[in-house]
Order: sequence, then C-alpha cells, then structure tokens
Amino acid sequence: MLVDAHCHLGDRAFEADRDAVIERARAAGVAHVVAIGESLAGSEKAVGLARSQRGLSATVGVHPHEAASWSADVAARVRELLAAPEVVAVGETGLDYHYEHSPRDVQRRVFEAQLGLAAELGKPVVVHARDADEDMAAMLRGWGGEKGGVVLHSFSSGADVWEAGMTIEAYFSFSGMITFKNWHPAVPLTNYPANRLLVETDSPYLAPVPHRGKRNEPAFVREVAERAAALCGEHLETLSHRTTENARRCFGSRLETAL
Ligand SMILES: [Zn+2]
Repeated sequence: MLVDAHCHLGDRAFEADRDAVIERARAAGVAHVVAIGESLAGSEKAVGLARSQRGLSATVGVHPHEAASWSADVAARVRELLAAPEVVAVGETGLDYHYEHSPRDVQRRVFEAQLGLAAELGKPVVVHARDADEDMAAMLRGWGGEKGGVVLHSFSSGADVWEAGMTIEAYFSFSGMITFKNWHPAVPLTNYPANRLLVETDSPYLAPVPHRGKRNEPAFVREVAERAAALCGEHLETLSHRTTENARRCFGSRLETAL
C-alpha cells in the first residue's frame, strides 16, 4: 500500500480520464492520494475531488508562481476551506526563484502568511522550494508551528535546506526526480530519518523513469518508491509501509481511507 503525498489531480491534464487514472492508481496499490491546491481555483477543485471520494484528501494554498494573486479575500477563502474535513494541509506554498513568476518579496510575504496560517490552525504545510535555498532555510528555521508539520515536497534542495528541515523535523517527500540519471542528492537518502520520508508523484509533472517525458499519474508513485527503496538499501515493502505510516502521521486519520 502506497500514498501519493503530492498530486495535482485537479489539473486539466486529468480532465478527460480522471476516473481511469484513479482506477489505475488503485490497481497499482496506491491507497491514498493527496490532491494539491496550487491556487484558489485549484484548491476549490481539489476540495471538490476529495469530497467526492474516499482515498482522496486535499490541500489548500497558493503556489509561489501564483503568489501575486494573494489578497485579503483569497486569504479569507483559504481559511474557510481549511476548515473542511477533507483538507489535510496548507499549501502548496513556498519560494521559487528559478521561474520567478511572482516577485521574490511577494513570494516571501505570501509564504510567511501561509506558514502562519498552518501554525495557527495546527495543520501541516506543503512547501515548494526551488533555487531559493538561503531564504528557504532561514524561513524554515523561523517557522513556529508546533502541532502541524512541514513537508518539503519533491525535495531536491541543498544541504542548507536539508539541515533546516532536520532542525524543525520536517518531512522530506521524494518525487520521480530521484529516478533521473542526472539526480545528484546533496545528502544521501540513508541520512534522512526513516520516520520523515514520504513519496509522491507531483503528477502530472515529473514522470519517473521509465515514463519520463509523458504525463505523470499517481500509479507511478510505485516507481518512485522502488527507487527510494534502492537508495535506502531496503525492500520495497518496508519502504512502502513506512512512507504510508509517515503520511498518516503527518496528514492525519483521513489518510486511512482508501481509494
Ligand atoms: Zn506540486
């Protein structure tokens, strides 16, 4: 049994065949999928999906690419949606200085706001980090959430962010990137605490080998888990069991419902 801890299931890429995608995930041994909200509209969509079936949860938040869309009205609606029982985390939020679709200062302010919301509500927060190691490490170190956790999604940052994550006992979620030939981790997987590892697809993006270049989907979390197990020197069953337990601890009992 596997959990896909990060999937953009509401994405347009799944519009034509979402039911078949879910069916293939179930057939591949995926028990639960966390559907990510990356904008207000995307969050509404993710909540709707999670409401429509067991084995799905939603997150609600605004991605750094969309940070410029943050406003008092958006913040109020985000807060409202976070009260729904299907919603297990804030995010995805964070910093992306690679694409810089929103100005950096706006990204920091909107990330700070969502970190605050998560801490206040005692929910975990799903964090995206790209080419922003210095600011990311500093902001994580300043994070004041005691009850929720931090999930560093599709983790590929450097040693600084890894260290900050270790300090605040973050979860490190690995995506199909770990199957790529050119993936060189700053810190080997054997150095991560076993109770902090998660696996995800980030679908429809980042399809793992041998699906690279195609649309990604939750069923492929199996390939990610296989590679993670190899990198950890463990059996797939052990790693699957452990990452599923970790996801349940991180996101809560809703994760016990199965597709
Ligand atoms: Zn994502």
